Amino acid sequence: MGRIEEFLKKRQQDNLLRVLKPATSRGQGLRLFKGREYIDLSSNDYLGFSTHPKLKQAAKEVVDKLGVGSSASRLLSGDLDIYHRLEEETADFKGKERALIFNSGYQANLGIISALCQRGDVIFSDKLSHASIIDGIILSGAKFFRFSHNDSNHLEQLLKEQRHKFQEALIITESVFSMDGDKPALGELVSLKEKYNCKLMVDEAHATGIFGKSGAGVVEEAGVVKKIDLIMGTFSKALGSFGGYVSGSKSLVDYLINTARSFIYSTALPPAVIAANLASLELVEEEPQRRRDLISNADYFRKNLKEAGFKIRGSSQIVPLIVSDNQKVIKISQELQKKGYWVFPIRPPTVPTGESRLRFSLTYHHSKEVLERLIKDLCQSQFLNI
Ligand SMILES: *Cc1c(COP(=O)(O)O)cnc(C)c1O
Repeated sequence: MGRIEEFLKKRQQDNLLRVLKPATSRGQGLRLFKGREYIDLSSNDYLGFSTHPKLKQAAKEVVDKLGVGSSASRLLSGDLDIYHRLEEETADFKGKERALIFNSGYQANLGIISALCQRGDVIFSDKLSHASIIDGIILSGAKFFRFSHNDSNHLEQLLKEQRHKFQEALIITESVFSMDGDKPALGELVSLKEKYNCKLMVDEAHATGIFGKSGAGVVEEAGVVKKIDLIMGTFSKALGSFGGYVSGSKSLVDYLINTARSFIYSTALPPAVIAANLASLELVEEEPQRRRDLISNADYFRKNLKEAGFKIRGSSQIVPLIVSDNQKVIKISQELQKKGYWVFPIRPPTVPTGESRLRFSLTYHHSKEVLERLIKDLCQSQFLNI
């Protein structure tokens, strides 16, 4: 048996084989799979923008005008003024001088981190960092230290021991963590980056469109926009479309245009995607009630689950319910799937051993009534004896 077959067999035996489950249709927080409708609790379409008429219209108009493909990298003939308009709007939205669009959030992290850091430099990153951050770090060749999750004391200890041995230093965190739904103490990270002469990069993938007065994210909410050197994020989650971005100084963006390989060596995003992104930034401004409702519903959901005795984490629309036991978490998610909820068990190595969980990703389409029913179903679960 070859390596591939052995791998697949082992994954199957361990109940860890990943398989695809295509929906036949989707929208309004629902998902049609094998003829059955599920309430989608695994989607990042937090504000329901992906099917919003305004985004659809914007994309259609640009397809009719400019076609589908963008023909080349932006540094060759792929560049269009619409990308620059989006970059100006993104920079304004984020409160920064400039912004640069990447083909996805994944490619943004890969390109930014590997362009910014090199051998002889050092990167300090939260232990729960997203795979795209880790991959960017590996590609950079810089020395890498992980600090305990949201633990500024541990970060300072590492900075004290290591910072002086290296040239440039970069600290990276997320502003809403994808598996825990919690936020870092950005003020503390800012103090440390100043004290130890580092750059600070914040990944706002799950926060953009939701937190902060104008929906710009947790950096805005925490009042530290000016202090963060690089704010990156994606148009693919709450903004309902596709594509990554980074915002920061003019020199940072000029540098990345010249050095970020995932920017230079990939065809520009289709113009229709850019038009939808522009429309989504307008929508964030026009429909603040969506994010307010989402935050209030998520608070309600977490509060009620905690009162029912469940072990709940986070302070955002991502709500993890810790079950610990691997077999149990599988059984509970199967039970919920039978009741029509699209929710999956998250197990090691995605999360630390002993911290298996159900991860509920709430969106604008999950009304209080839906959440109440879900809370009731969780309380009645035969596997969740509290
Ligand atoms: C989803 C995600 C990304 C990648 O964004 P895409 O646009 O989906 O490629 C990067 N960082 C974090 C923290 C994410 O959750």
